[in-house]
Amino acid sequence: MSKFIFVTGGVVSSLGKGLASASIGKMLEARGLKTTVIKCDPYLNVDPGTMNPFQHGEVYVTDDGAETDLDLGHYERFTNGNFTKDNNITAGKIYFSVITKERRGDYLGKTVQIIPHITNEIKSCIKKVAHDQDVDVTIIEIGGTVGDIEGLPFLEAIRQLRWELGESYALNIHVTLLPFIKSAGELKTKPTQHSVGRLREIGIYPDILLCRTEMPVSKDQREKIALFCNVDKEAVFDAVDVKHIYEVPIMFKKQGLDNLILRRLNIKREEKDLVEWTNVVLKRLKHPEHEVKIAVVGKYIALQDAYKSIYEALVHGGIANNCRVNIVKIDSEDLEKTKNLASNFKDIKGILIPGGFGDRGIEGKIKAVQYAREKNIPYFGICLGMQVATIEFGRNVCGLNKANSTEFDKDTKYPVICLQEEQKDVKDMGATMRLGAYPCKLEKKSLSYNAYKKENISERHRHRYELNNSFREKFEKEGLIISGINTQQDLVEIIELKNHPWFVGCQFHPEFKSKPDKAHPLFAAFISAALDCK
Ligand code: GLN
Repeated sequence: MSKFIFVTGGVVSSLGKGLASASIGKMLEARGLKTTVIKCDPYLNVDPGTMNPFQHGEVYVTDDGAETDLDLGHYERFTNGNFTKDNNITAGKIYFSVITKERRGDYLGKTVQIIPHITNEIKSCIKKVAHDQDVDVTIIEIGGTVGDIEGLPFLEAIRQLRWELGESYALNIHVTLLPFIKSAGELKTKPTQHSVGRLREIGIYPDILLCRTEMPVSKDQREKIALFCNVDKEAVFDAVDVKHIYEVPIMFKKQGLDNLILRRLNIKREEKDLVEWTNVVLKRLKHPEHEVKIAVVGKYIALQDAYKSIYEALVHGGIANNCRVNIVKIDSEDLEKTKNLASNFKDIKGILIPGGFGDRGIEGKIKAVQYAREKNIPYFGICLGMQVATIEFGRNVCGLNKANSTEFDKDTKYPVICLQEEQKDVKDMGATMRLGAYPCKLEKKSLSYNAYKKENISERHRHRYELNNSFREKFEKEGLIISGINTQQDLVEIIELKNHPWFVGCQFHPEFKSKPDKAHPLFAAFISAALDCK
């Protein structure tokens, strides 16, 4: 039977609970345990699929086509897990399910209440993941901060679970903040005392505290925190700010967090270092041999989290090439006004256009593609980035005046990107895109095949529009290479260009499957091409 680790957060949001949970997964995996990580999100959306990136950051997509919280991206990048829709439990999903059951008559005669109906539903969703994925340890991260009204049913559910399971089957880890007050010249423990106090009021007694700080916690402060928060001294851990997120598991490992978790959960495993991670990932991150500047052209560049997996996959592509990737974020709307593109792309050795929706900034993206194509700068277009590359090729190489996607111009004379038949009648916006893993067959003589070194691949999707097959013949005649096809549905998955050093557009999202120690082949190939760019 699986053991459970519940991770909560206190004082403020953005403390890195997701990274802490992913790092715990990583450390336990290194000790030979099979783990899974669940994210509980207390908001009422069923999933984040319909939220704006400014609200939510990136929407991460799993193989089974779930649109999930970006923390699942951290979990998959740090561990060997391949997670499913069940790994993201939202309040929306829970309420939806309980109300559906109520309408069906499953609770006939009863008043349906938060306790026990909502909390039972949460508990059964958590247990289902542990059971279906057949793991040794299930890590559950509760989104939000202790004290949020929305979070209460989730906290109550984990309180009950711990009570039912018993001490050696469940562990509570609380991630908290020790702010540094400049005028006092010291780290303050009071907010942590308060936040642990809030937890104890509702019957949750943290076993371990991970204290986010700017500097190491002194012995005295550790003792004070232990005393006031009712935890052992050895269970107070520093979570000092680190330069690279991939240092987090090493930081916790050095302090023995994995050993304490195993001891508390009564699990015996041999000591194991994170050798590969330290030797390859960190060494190359910290002391790379090369350096390269890559431009990411998008409309959400002001928000760090909007293209999370893209930025991480670029870093991974860098690690694979022993190279530091300096990302230059360019707002596509700014490019629309620019006369002198060369100044925007000064010293840039590769241009990447990520996914997106809606027409804002589209013409700027098309200008960026044209620049990359004409100046022989490596180009990587992902989803919308592939679609704008197709539009640019249609307009400027094939002479299809005002060619466009019907997403941006319904009446365009040349709809080079358009809706598939099955998308035309879609009315509901939630979970109705082409989502999740689909197979793709690669053309042997292509940049893509060179990168993957195999003919059949599977990649994750999240889009409605597709390359319009009626333009394929014309495109190919003019020098577009179609190097990846979904043969079952006859859909174009990858385009490339003749007479260009490295130009790849893919309809899928390769960034979701890239890991620091196993860069995605297309990202590795893109960075390698950027290093060759004169
Ligand atoms: N808006 C485009 C579509 O729906 C591209 C989506 C994306 O980039 N993820 O097809």
